[in-house]
Amino acid sequence: MRIVEPTITVEKFDGKKIMKRIERACRTCYRSEGKITEDSYKKLLKNCITRGHESVLEHEKITVRIYSDVGSYKDLTRHRFASFSVESTRYCSYDKDKYGNEIAFMNPVYIEDKETYETWKNAMQEIEKAYIKMKELGATTDMCRELLPHSTAAEYTMTANIREWKHILSLRTNNHVHPSIRQVLIPLLKLFKQEMPEIFDDIEYDEDFKEEYYAKLIIEEDF
Ligand SMILES: Cc1cc2nc3c(=O)[nH]c(=O)nc-3n(C[C@H](O)[C@H](O)[C@H](O)COP(=O)(O)OP(=O)(O)OC[C@H]3O[C@@H](n4cnc5c(N)ncnc54)[C@H](O)[C@@H]3O)c2cc1C
Repeated sequence: MRIVEPTITVEKFDGKKIMKRIERACRTCYRSEGKITEDSYKKLLKNCITRGHESVLEHEKITVRIYSDVGSYKDLTRHRFASFSVESTRYCSYDKDKYGNEIAFMNPVYIEDKETYETWKNAMQEIEKAYIKMKELGATTDMCRELLPHSTAAEYTMTANIREWKHILSLRTNNHVHPSIRQVLIPLLKLFKQEMPEIFDDIEYDEDFKEEYYAKLIIEEDF
């Protein structure tokens, strides 16, 4: 068994370009394209968001690849306007060489009590043992996946338009949200705040969530 850490890989984007493209689309409403200047998008976007004229944010999208666990995608895939491609526990057979003949479990670093953590770890070891044993007995991957817990590591690609990201990040980065989601989405929100402050600045997140728990953020040019 392997205990792994989460990552979030973001396609390289230019926040200013995204905001200027949204401005261009939005100005169609008022035929005020002539008012576009280098910085005119700032005021326009702020006004749109304040007034709830948020459909304009749907013109641009961003894709990320998340390496987290089954529990996190179980929650995030509830968002109906995002698109997902999720590692399949029906087709990925973890006893195969490709997976190192073992199951990867996402490290629940937020379980800080040593004895509780060891109890979790022992349970994962037993699950892996049973998975391999069932495979040896001829069980299909469909049968074996019945054993897999929320902690099973999983990769998923997620695409959403800017309006939906704003919605998801405002719901999924506060202290009511499962830590495995805060781990990946708080670093993403902080990146969005830095790159597109006019759109994401007003979203509050759990600032007490320990930075050492954050998933590694990777920005990839060739996504
Ligand atoms: C802290 C937390 C705890 C949760 N706990 C549970 C739980 O215990 N059990 C559970 O089942 N779920 C739970 N959820 C999931 C939650 O109920 C939503 O299914 C999920 O957050 C998706 O939210 P959404 O519908 O706002 O988002 P999206 O699907 O992303 O939709 C975006 C927005 O579009 C609009 N919209 C979308 N579809 C419709 C529609 N059919 N009709 C009208 N408007 C629509 C709404 O305004 C919606 O907010 C929880 C979510 C959070 C954040």
